[in-house]
Amino acid sequence: MKKILVTGAGGFVGQHLVKFLKKKNYWVKGVDIKTPEFEKTTADSFEILDLRHLDNCIKAAKGIDEIYQMAADMGGIGYITKYHALVFRNNALINLNMLEAARKNGVKKYLYTSSACVYPKHLQNEENVSPLKEEDAYPADSEPGYGWEKLFSELTAKYYMEDYGIPAYIVRFHNIFGPLCAYDGGREKSPAAICRKIALAKKVDEIEVWGDGKQTRSYCYIDDCLDGIYSLIQSDYHNPVNIGQDRLITVDELVDIISGIAGKKITKRYDTTKPQGVRGRNADISLAKKILGWEPKISLEEGLERMYKWIYAQLKKKKTL
Ligand code: NAD
Repeated sequence: MKKILVTGAGGFVGQHLVKFLKKKNYWVKGVDIKTPEFEKTTADSFEILDLRHLDNCIKAAKGIDEIYQMAADMGGIGYITKYHALVFRNNALINLNMLEAARKNGVKKYLYTSSACVYPKHLQNEENVSPLKEEDAYPADSEPGYGWEKLFSELTAKYYMEDYGIPAYIVRFHNIFGPLCAYDGGREKSPAAICRKIALAKKVDEIEVWGDGKQTRSYCYIDDCLDGIYSLIQSDYHNPVNIGQDRLITVDELVDIISGIAGKKITKRYDTTKPQGVRGRNADISLAKKILGWEPKISLEEGLERMYKWIYAQLKKKKTL
């Protein structure tokens, strides 16, 4: 039986991925610096290891056929705009060491999770942006810290493939969302933060929105993301591929959709002093459609409803509601 390692298996995508791979009957090992926060892991084996250290990476990758490298020091815009040096250093160490561990252990496939944050800022200055194509990443002008590190690690994976023959699969995620994500504490992203604020609001209320609400994004539900990366690792395509959605909406619209799901009448109080990231960002997913025959199936409304219900239930459990 093929043995799979999911790093970052205590995190949002990692936890879902472990479940997804178990359903496909793989033997799965999960590794993280923390245990999964919201439910017990379904991995066959789970180890707490700090992957900034090479010896821990070598231990994690021992006897493994395929690695999905999800571990990263990351968070929403409030987090990644605050900690450039820390995030760059932590993630560069994890990625350099995991690739070296993959080489030393003779791993057969290596999937690296990059990000839309690699794309240049000047292509994302308007609300009504053109969707970002994979080749737009160069000439590079990535998001400081987190984005530049993602580009650096994409290249590291590419060089390891060229020099040592480890097949690399590089996926650029665009705003993946769903249950089991961070929804408070500073690492949460906009859909989860807005769900939390609306869940905590009264029937008729006002919530704080970061920025002026006119900034745009596209959002992809976790189940679609997993189908995408699984198709990619079965393929023979080794350049970066966007996995996301191409339905562009404003943050205002996002708030309105979630208010509708919650059945609440919510007005917005804008705080333009808070970090907002780029003005507009959308994913061009035509490459993934073409080479993988993949496209997202779950609508934004359906995905947000699932996530809202989950966050609402978490807040109830914690007696915050
Ligand atoms: P997450 O923060 O929920 O999961 C990352 C996990 O990595 C966490 O559980 C964390 O504890 C673990 N980790 C951090 N430092 C570690 C270390 N030193 N050793 C071992 N584990 C460590 O994030 P996620 O949303 O699940 O993201 C998964 C991957 O996808 C990350 O590489 C992230 O950068 C990338 N990504 C995610 C999105 C998204 O929208 N979720 C977008 C772009 C890229």
